[in-house]
Amino acid sequence: MFKALDVEAQTMNRVKLGYFRLCLQREIVQCEQEIATLRSSVRLMTSRERGDAARQLSDLHVHLMQLEDALDRVNDGSYGWCLRCGSAIDPTLLEWLPYLALCESCSASAPPHLRQGG
Ligand SMILES: [Zn+2]
Repeated sequence: MFKALDVEAQTMNRVKLGYFRLCLQREIVQCEQEIATLRSSVRLMTSRERGDAARQLSDLHVHLMQLEDALDRVNDGSYGWCLRCGSAIDPTLLEWLPYLALCESCSASAPPHLRQGG
């Protein structure tokens, strides 16, 4: 049995999830474009620049993976909850870094690719 307030809270939640889904989809498109641009310009680069580009590309691939994982979590309903301890991730942090998979305290001890701000 739901009270009116609960229904409203759930609706808000769906709206928020939709919002984060859009953010993530937009970032995925951006990330894919950056990868494509970088790839197409590699043949015009010096070997030193190619080294930098390769590092950038692998960073972009990691980021793309984080975004796609986050989008999966939006779709399966686990988005916004810490993967390690299950507590809610601060929504203001999610607005800033929508791919976050861990809460603040867990990210401190997580492997680098799951940490905040990285
Ligand atoms: Zn946690």
